[in-house]
Amino acid sequence: MRIGVPREIKNHEYRVGLTPESVAELTHQGHEVLVEKDAGAGIGDDDPDYRAAGATILPNAAAVFEAADMIVKVKEPQAAERAMLRPGQILFTYLHLAPDPDQTRDLVNSGAIAIAYETVTDAAGGLPLLKPMSQVAGRMSIQAGATALEKAHGGRGVLLGGVPGVQPARVAVLGGGVVGFHAAENAVGLSADVTILDKSPAALERLSNHFGARARVIYSNKASIAEAVATADLVIGAVLIPGASAPKLVTREMLGTMKQGAVLVDVAIDQGGCFETSRPTTHAEPTYVVDGIVHYCVANMPGAVARTSTYALNNATLPHVVKLANLGWRDALLADQHLRAGLNVWRGHVTCAPVAQVQNYEF
Ligand code: NAD
Repeated sequence: MRIGVPREIKNHEYRVGLTPESVAELTHQGHEVLVEKDAGAGIGDDDPDYRAAGATILPNAAAVFEAADMIVKVKEPQAAERAMLRPGQILFTYLHLAPDPDQTRDLVNSGAIAIAYETVTDAAGGLPLLKPMSQVAGRMSIQAGATALEKAHGGRGVLLGGVPGVQPARVAVLGGGVVGFHAAENAVGLSADVTILDKSPAALERLSNHFGARARVIYSNKASIAEAVATADLVIGAVLIPGASAPKLVTREMLGTMKQGAVLVDVAIDQGGCFETSRPTTHAEPTYVVDGIVHYCVANMPGAVARTSTYALNNATLPHVVKLANLGWRDALLADQHLRAGLNVWRGHVTCAPVAQVQNYEF
């Protein structure tokens, strides 16, 4: 199969669909990989790296879209990219169609076969192609919080791990799923005093078994959240109720109970945020202050570590890319119900129930 990798054109997107290592795997299996010039520049992988892996470098996106049987990307196709898709061509990337009717319409009209990373499932009922970005955001949330705690960034001037003879910072992690687990791992690794709150008995048991005495694992309710927040130097918001907006677990009133210069990192901001005072920010201006509390609410945290994020994403996507390339879309989707769950648009039809429902397509 001929697999195309265009350069990402969404604002501030530095990731790329395939790393040179992934390209080498595909060319080794007999496929042809066409990469747009400078597609990997944002992660420090240059055209010679891709050539060495067996790719052919093409001068622009139009050439890639024209020649490829399957396009592998990171972000949803922008309008100019959607216009280049053709009937029967496979598109494998993040789509997030539910809130984006314009994109759905263009994909339907293109006749392409669009498979979304975010709806591919696994045997445990998880979303394995979303997981790597949650791992990255969770680990990054502690770095971001540690920086915001510095005086120069508006924080209260506390070092997360303290030093011998001085208490470490107190970190409260609200939600102990993928983001919360990885946040807690990094905070514990820096010797902070860590409390994780979750509602799910399975999550509490898993966290407790994993962290033992290295972190407090507490059932999440109004009282336990109020206590953890009031005593924390750093609070990480990492809750998720699938398909719903994040619950506002920390109200504006509760900020008044916190230490001046404490920091809130709202990773759940992409679902509306779990602090009442959160609003989305950017990497260019990541923080703002409300009532003396520093807020960090960047909606696309993994974008800041594009290289790590691209490699983490490829670890999860490559087996599916290989399957689609080796078997073709029909046999790959028939053979694998979890990959089939990723099919969102097929030759002019919306094939993802929630998208069809919310945008009034026949299903
Ligand atoms: P997850 O499903 O793995 O974990 C969510 C956890 O929240 C679950 O364990 C659940 O039991 C818990 N929870 C639900 N309600 C709760 C409550 N009231 N109190 C305490 N815990 C509660 O989800 P995840 O992958 O960890 O993602 C968390 C959030 O981070 C999502 O909104 C996700 O979209 C977001 N995210 C943001 C970025 C970013 O760049 N900002 C990147 C990746 C993920």
